[in-house]
Amino acid sequence: MDSGSALQPQSAGGQAPASADTITVAYGDGIGPEIMKATLRVLDAAGAGLAYERVRIGKEVYLDGHASGIAPEAWEALRNNRAFLKGPITTPQGSGYKSLNVTIRKTLGLFANVRPCRAYTPYVPSHFPNMDLVIVRENEEDLYAGIEHQQTAEVVQCLKLVSRPGCERVIRYAFEYARANGRKKVTCMSKDNIMKHTDGLFHQVFDEVAQEYPDIENNHFIIDIGAAMLADRPEQFDVVVTLNLYGDIVSDITAQVAGSVGLGGSANIGSKISMFEAIHGSAPDIAGKDIANPSGLIHAACLMLAHLGKGDIAARVQNALLATLEDGIHTADLYSENYTRRKVGTQAFADAVIERL
Ligand code: NAD
Repeated sequence: MDSGSALQPQSAGGQAPASADTITVAYGDGIGPEIMKATLRVLDAAGAGLAYERVRIGKEVYLDGHASGIAPEAWEALRNNRAFLKGPITTPQGSGYKSLNVTIRKTLGLFANVRPCRAYTPYVPSHFPNMDLVIVRENEEDLYAGIEHQQTAEVVQCLKLVSRPGCERVIRYAFEYARANGRKKVTCMSKDNIMKHTDGLFHQVFDEVAQEYPDIENNHFIIDIGAAMLADRPEQFDVVVTLNLYGDIVSDITAQVAGSVGLGGSANIGSKISMFEAIHGSAPDIAGKDIANPSGLIHAACLMLAHLGKGDIAARVQNALLATLEDGIHTADLYSENYTRRKVGTQAFADAVIERL
């Protein structure tokens, strides 16, 4: 942990209330420190009652010689706290570096990646103003299991791993998520017409688990036509559950279709620990200029608050964020002549959200 690593109660009054939940926080690099500062200010002002244990990840850690991008001493904090709020990091170029996200997901058992994608018209133009769906992606198995090797000088191989317990966990999570969030339908996407064993197992387990949720509608699409439908008629989807690689791809399609890549947050859910982050990267081109939009990380923080049982505070923050956008207070990425009344920087945007809490 770095110099700021000691437990730092940072609630609104500067002191954590007795019931404070301690969360792990990593500022990341690029725009990470700016948007994290803005987000924590909003959480404190909302009375989230959180204390922060800060760990180091990203550029400075890679430069220290840790190829994983995470300081070894950070794992203790990550394992001790239920939630991890993570700023974006720059992925180093070249071989020899591991993906920090894949390392964290596997080490902490973060089995479901949850990405809500909704339109924010008119502040962000979208062809589908009523779209409001959630992609739930299996997060540990499939082609991301890390079983990849050189067969011969001319042949490389990557094995696709799918297990029944892995399928059950993420599919059950998708149905439970639907139930808990008032959603009506869960759609499965797989390619079991071709991969009859791996994708076939995912589809089969989906059909079995769906029987346990008669109150939730269910259906299935082959992933290729499913992806086309997500791009063409996203309004007809509610919760979508799919395998790791497909989920990675379709969640970017839906975020882009919603027009809200800069606004989206995501949750990586585990049975003990969960990680929350914005869906965008470290945006090195605008780092250090106080112009980045902190909304994606604020949305991730709302998902975290709801996960910690602080749904009322999550709703308050979410409403204040939407009211800020509605009042035409926008960072540069959302600027539009028609809708922007005041163009602001990162911290001034956070001030405006705080005023509307
Ligand atoms: P990016 O998302 O960082 O940036 C893409 C474009 O969107 C840039 O023009 C950027 O200025 C803009 N942008 C992104 N976030 C913004 C915000 N909050 N406010 C305003 N504008 C914003 O994608 P990239 O440039 O492809 O990636 C940069 C680095 O981030 C890469 O090293 C990539 O590997 C890494 N990355 C990290 C994560 C993560 O840590 N979870 C996720 C994606 C990418």
